[in-house]
Amino acid sequence: MDNNKRLLPFATGLLLLGVAFFLLYQRPVSAEFSGSTMGTRYQIKIADLPREIEQTYIENQIFTTLDQVDKLMSTYKPNSDVTRFNRAAIDESVIIDKQTLEVIQLSKLIYTLSNGAFDITVSPIVQLWGFGPEFKQNKLPSANDIQRALDKVGFDKIQITDNPPALEKLQDVEIDLSAIAKGYGVDQVAKLLDTHNIENYLVEVGGEIRVKGTNRAGQRWRIGIETPSVIRSGARQAIAIDNASIATSGDYRNFFEVEGKRYSHTINPLTGKPVEHNLASVTVVSRSCAEADALATAMSVLGPKRGFELAVESKLAAYFLVRENDGYQQLMTDSFRDIVDNQTKPH
Ligand code: FAD
Repeated sequence: MDNNKRLLPFATGLLLLGVAFFLLYQRPVSAEFSGSTMGTRYQIKIADLPREIEQTYIENQIFTTLDQVDKLMSTYKPNSDVTRFNRAAIDESVIIDKQTLEVIQLSKLIYTLSNGAFDITVSPIVQLWGFGPEFKQNKLPSANDIQRALDKVGFDKIQITDNPPALEKLQDVEIDLSAIAKGYGVDQVAKLLDTHNIENYLVEVGGEIRVKGTNRAGQRWRIGIETPSVIRSGARQAIAIDNASIATSGDYRNFFEVEGKRYSHTINPLTGKPVEHNLASVTVVSRSCAEADALATAMSVLGPKRGFELAVESKLAAYFLVRENDGYQQLMTDSFRDIVDNQTKPH
């Protein structure tokens, strides 16, 4: 048998090995990143990071994207757009970034949809009850203090201009984007991943989540909705979603108690007080995470009856957990039930 024939199997083996190595090298890798932002934690899970994208590069891009939202929309940073506006004088026009403008315009839409239940001008009341950047207080403000804060509430006190993007105070008013900007940060990271042709990912900031495609095992991302209790933890419901966002708002994480009564950080802009109903949490599934974030807060303010009515009227995919006796009554809109029953994509 001449040499060529003897070498053939060896050459074929080498070729196959080379092809296998090439294909293996082409296969995307999975990656996970986490860190702190906006006073909370973020985590990103990518199931198919193209090999040509350096992990440190995409990790830095993700952090920069979230840091930009923090820098623009934080009430905890002295030079953010929000703080500069809150410190401005009446009739002073404050130039803001186009991202901040985008969030304020969406806030106005949800303010209108929720008849003022979602209202970013609640900032003075949030501060008064000790849920803002200032000192924490666990004492109840006086009726006069509440009225003084209420006098500063109302979207009609803000003048928004698009070009250049700017805000102007028509009366004494301050804004707080805590109930929408985290969701917006999630959307911006999702947009970043999309531009890098990453098709399968989960982005989470402080409990607000947006997913696309599948996890490393090729299954839809399954998201647990936690039991709204500081005592009993664990998922109450788990749903598999794709190309959608999910946000939950509730009275069980950020609250204080006085004489056995709970005061949470979800404020009713009409009363100037923390909400006083028995709706423990609201979860909304929507395309945009900023929308889901703000809608969950809006429903949380409106309460189990009016909130659920609005969710049904607006065809939202929403899941309510209402505190009763020793457990929870769960309410699902049809769109949410479709997701649970058929695991179909949200509308
Ligand atoms: P959500 O229900 O999503 O939001 C509740 C918050 O929304 C309340 O805390 C209040 O601020 C506001 N709110 C209450 N009622 C209404 C209403 N009716 N309409 C509209 N808004 C309402 N926290 C820190 O401790 N340190 C930080 O450095 C810090 N930086 C932040 C930067 C940014 C850009 C943002 C958005 C938040 C930051 N936070 C910080 C706040 C922290 O992330 C919040 O506790 C968190 O955003 C509250 O979100 P949630 O999901 O718990 O509740």
